[in-house]
Amino acid sequence: MPADIPGIHHVTAIASDPGRNYEFYTETLGLRLVKRSVNQDDVSVYHLFYGDRTGSPGTSMTFFPYTDARPGRVGTGQATTVQFVIPVGSVEYWTDRLDDHGVDTKEPRERFEDTVIPFEDPDGLHLELVARADAPDGDPPEGPVPAEHAIRGFFGVSLSLSTGSQTANLLKTMGFHPTKSVRGRQRFEAHGDLGYVVDLLEDPEAPQGKSGAGTVHHVAFQVSDAEQAQWHDALVERGLRPTQIIDRKWFKSIYARTEAGVLFEFATKSPGYTVDEDVDELGEHLVLPDWLEDRREELEADLPELTVVPKST
Ligand code: ZN
Repeated sequence: MPADIPGIHHVTAIASDPGRNYEFYTETLGLRLVKRSVNQDDVSVYHLFYGDRTGSPGTSMTFFPYTDARPGRVGTGQATTVQFVIPVGSVEYWTDRLDDHGVDTKEPRERFEDTVIPFEDPDGLHLELVARADAPDGDPPEGPVPAEHAIRGFFGVSLSLSTGSQTANLLKTMGFHPTKSVRGRQRFEAHGDLGYVVDLLEDPEAPQGKSGAGTVHHVAFQVSDAEQAQWHDALVERGLRPTQIIDRKWFKSIYARTEAGVLFEFATKSPGYTVDEDVDELGEHLVLPDWLEDRREELEADLPELTVVPKST
């Protein structure tokens, strides 16, 4: 068996308006746009990547913003909440900040002894800030949020499932172990310092999720280059039907839909987002994979307007 997976690599969700998405994740949440590209499976749509200063594995939240996307329905067979980790002393900073930016937050709540701030992004994607004493210092970007309060990266995700046992077994194979549970929520944890939590929310009565704006498209987990092929075989052995290894330029990926309907990806930590842009210029230009470079002019003309504020201003 390949070695245990340390945690989440990135999470990709569907949005509608790219400008509104950019503004929310950079100006309100203080993440950095670390890559601006196109959805390699639908090149008329952007693929926007936000993260820490370099978009380290465990920090990058990415979006396919379809300008005409209809709202999806949050439900079973999906990752329904994305959890980010903040320092334990930053709860008041964030409740004030979100309030100042007109974001509706629900009352902070306690879950497994952590304070959690639930809110939604402009497309209704369910987000949570989880305050942790062990939040790593990380590598926060320069920006509107002071480093001491910055989002460090992912804490984890919640998966909504009509039945949870097969996913629980898969997570154990991946190196996530059950640690805690409370009514309808079973927590699995890996050994990394970011994105190491997966909560299974089991509810046979809950409606099935439907893809659309405000829903998660897939959750990607970190694997090493050397072991990616072993993960492919391990997924086949479990009866899943993973894709072959696909070169996404910033990482290599395999995808497999779980029995419960959630799309998982297994992405390599390298080479990362600095492979094709200088770290100071990440996100400032439209970056394309080599096989799309000769269609640049056509693609740029078709993509919606998106004004990106350079880091130097
Ligand atoms: Zn992905």
